[in-house]
Amino acid sequence: MSPEEFREWGKRAVDCVADYMRRAEEFPVLSRVRPGDVAAAIPGSPPMQGGVSQNTFFDDLERVILPGLTHWQSPNFHAYFPCNSSGPGIIGEILSAGLNVNGMLWATSPAATELETRVLDWMAEMLGLPACFRSTSERGGGCIQGTASESTLVALLAARKRAMQKSPTASGLTLYASTQAHSSVIKSAMIAGLASGPEDRSNVRLIGTDQNHAMRADLLKRALSEDVGAGRTPFFVCATVGTTSSTAVDPVPEIAEVIRGMAPGCWLHVDAAFSGAACICPEFRWMFGGVEHADSLCFNPHKWLLTNFDCDCFWTRDKETVTGALSITPEYLRNQASQSGQVIDYRDWQIPLGRRFRALKLWLVIRYYGVEGLQAYIREHIRLAAMFEKWVRADERFEVVAPRTVSLVCFRLRGGPEADARNRTLLERINATGKVYLSHTMLPGPDGKDRYVLRMAIGASATEERHVRTAWEVIRGSVP
Ligand code: PLP
Repeated sequence: MSPEEFREWGKRAVDCVADYMRRAEEFPVLSRVRPGDVAAAIPGSPPMQGGVSQNTFFDDLERVILPGLTHWQSPNFHAYFPCNSSGPGIIGEILSAGLNVNGMLWATSPAATELETRVLDWMAEMLGLPACFRSTSERGGGCIQGTASESTLVALLAARKRAMQKSPTASGLTLYASTQAHSSVIKSAMIAGLASGPEDRSNVRLIGTDQNHAMRADLLKRALSEDVGAGRTPFFVCATVGTTSSTAVDPVPEIAEVIRGMAPGCWLHVDAAFSGAACICPEFRWMFGGVEHADSLCFNPHKWLLTNFDCDCFWTRDKETVTGALSITPEYLRNQASQSGQVIDYRDWQIPLGRRFRALKLWLVIRYYGVEGLQAYIREHIRLAAMFEKWVRADERFEVVAPRTVSLVCFRLRGGPEADARNRTLLERINATGKVYLSHTMLPGPDGKDRYVLRMAIGASATEERHVRTAWEVIRGSVP
């Protein structure tokens, strides 16, 4: 494709995206296609021998692809956690794709590395993180990982490195997270060879939670004590700031204190994948209390900070251990800059070798909106969530089943486990309208038994008050 032809196609693509921004709310939020429908609309073998025309391609996009999407950019998308997007985020992606550098080493694109370092320092300052996580500190710094799951894995591998360095013959490496922690903690254990499958608890301890679904530090203490007593080596604790099911906030200061007392040197990772974004507002920074004791932490601007997928900010106070766990230098990667010790090679901070220039989009998002613009964005979603919560509480058919810490409201039709089926039907009816999309989880009730819960996650980039009002109307009108 020549630059001239690219310009023509590109204009059409940008028009298509700009139209989509406006049209996203007109589609059924949850795709209605059945398994195989999309594949059936795309000719099978042989692949096309000739090239496609612009019109044909964009017609196919409209006819085949759009109906097969679940519209994460719809302002009526309230399922899971959001997957944010914005004009500046998209433009950053376009530019990054156009320049298409591989920033694996400083030398393979100095600007990619140095911008990333700078943007991560900005972001650390915006979140009020302690100086030990900045690149200007002696041993700390940050980088962009693809996802929070990758950050968890990187942190776990660093933790293992530290434990093995301290005691090369250490046995029974054991890791800890709450029963509400994201599945990526167990998946990391599986990848690292510490769990043979999701249910293997030989080296994994899932710590019980309190009535707010936050990790109980006293139970962590007991588990550490038992394991240390049995000659095992606690090496990794993952605390969650904003759990996936209910945005519960684990008590990081108490967890850090327990670790200091029972298993000094054990790595503490803070997973703030969703809720971390709220900490750009000083009034929500209490959630980051105690992170000065963490060895690493992460959050996802791609969830709730207007930055297109993928973008997870990861910081550590102990970069030597992170790179010690992940660095390997074959001859073909040797270069003067790396050997000078004056540069960062981000390949040493992550699982793959190659890496995208993700800092560009985050840089543009921060510069376009400014800190105040981003704070206003977060505050508005939290205001809408508080409003929604009030409506739910005022309707006696419903109950709110977890404290709302930021912009997620967990609620259900009243009743014990016997009301689960009605709640499931309610969610099915809501989503069948196509007007909104919510998802569910299971949370322990006052009797400790799991209950089916609906999650109203407010945080899609385009969500306004009118969309939340629509959602509440749809929910009330769907009660079985
Ligand atoms: N951690 C938490 C607390 C999450 O809520 C999620 C996803 O919702 C993840 C990790 C996984 O995020 P990612 O898709 O970036 O790996």
